[in-house]
Amino acid sequence: MSPIQQVVGAVTQYQTGAGALARIREALELPAEPAFVSVELPSAGAEPAAVAFTDVRFRYADDLPYVHHGVSFAVPARGMTAFVGPSGAGKTTVFSLIERFYDPESGTITLDGRPLADWELPRLRAAIGYVEQDAPVLSGSLRDNLLLGNPEADEGTVARVLKTTRLDGLVERLPQGLETLVGHRGTKLSGGERQRVAIARALLRRPRLLLLDEATSQLDAVNEAALRDTVADVARSTTVLVVAHRLSTVTTADRIVVMDAGRVRAVGTHRELVAGDPLYAELAATQFLAAGH
Ligand code: ADP
Ligand code: MG
Repeated sequence: MSPIQQVVGAVTQYQTGAGALARIREALELPAEPAFVSVELPSAGAEPAAVAFTDVRFRYADDLPYVHHGVSFAVPARGMTAFVGPSGAGKTTVFSLIERFYDPESGTITLDGRPLADWELPRLRAAIGYVEQDAPVLSGSLRDNLLLGNPEADEGTVARVLKTTRLDGLVERLPQGLETLVGHRGTKLSGGERQRVAIARALLRRPRLLLLDEATSQLDAVNEAALRDTVADVARSTTVLVVAHRLSTVTTADRIVVMDAGRVRAVGTHRELVAGDPLYAELAATQFLAAGH
């Protein structure tokens, strides 16, 4: 990717980080955006949010087939919920609808019991940390990459988030610590490290809800354990939804939503589903088809 493509990617992904956006606009010498002024960041210790889908029907366009055919599930505040299912089941679309990148054709999605349409969009988006599948690491220092999440984050908060995401050891090993250049033309981070940098960036915004679309690439054992422990830690104080491709993620989950062809076919713990749902048992036996999506 060219640096410009990377920056454009960052603009799309971090559109709610008003400060970061302003800096990117400055770097690109784009005119300031007048319409989108102050995004109120949730206060420290913001309460985790509950999420529910009720009979959600959705398609990306009128001439395309339905992607969700009446999806329903409820996730209480706090804890980790994993979404699993074959490629194309509609898992990533669940996240796009929660972010209101699109609205459903019918049915209701609520955050804390309030329909999404009742939330001011900047407030809704400020409440959510979204880590996309294969979230990019940008050119610049590791610190730059983290502060895109929240340019005002202080040293103590950065240090805490590095600890939560198990990146503190990496920072110690890097020649210039947080000032080490990463990404394009910088020190190469592994897939697992990149994903945790993306999570750290999201956590710096103190989200009430963390949406994590797990990368499908294989992780080594150390990175896999670090990712699992990170998610488990975050889920103690935040609501975490994960599109999971790893057995180590689902075995840690408080509940698993099994999706297939735009429907929820089962909800339960790993143990319950291995015994009770043949599709789940098959996915689990094949390590969630780590090569799929
Ligand atoms: P999953 O994450 O479970 O693999 P997705 O939610 O990404 O599934 O996709 C579900 C279906 O919606 C797939 O058939 C996919 O091709 C389609 N789809 C996803 N995103 C778009 C889009 N932006 N426009 C049109 N179709 C899409
Ligand atoms: Mg997906």
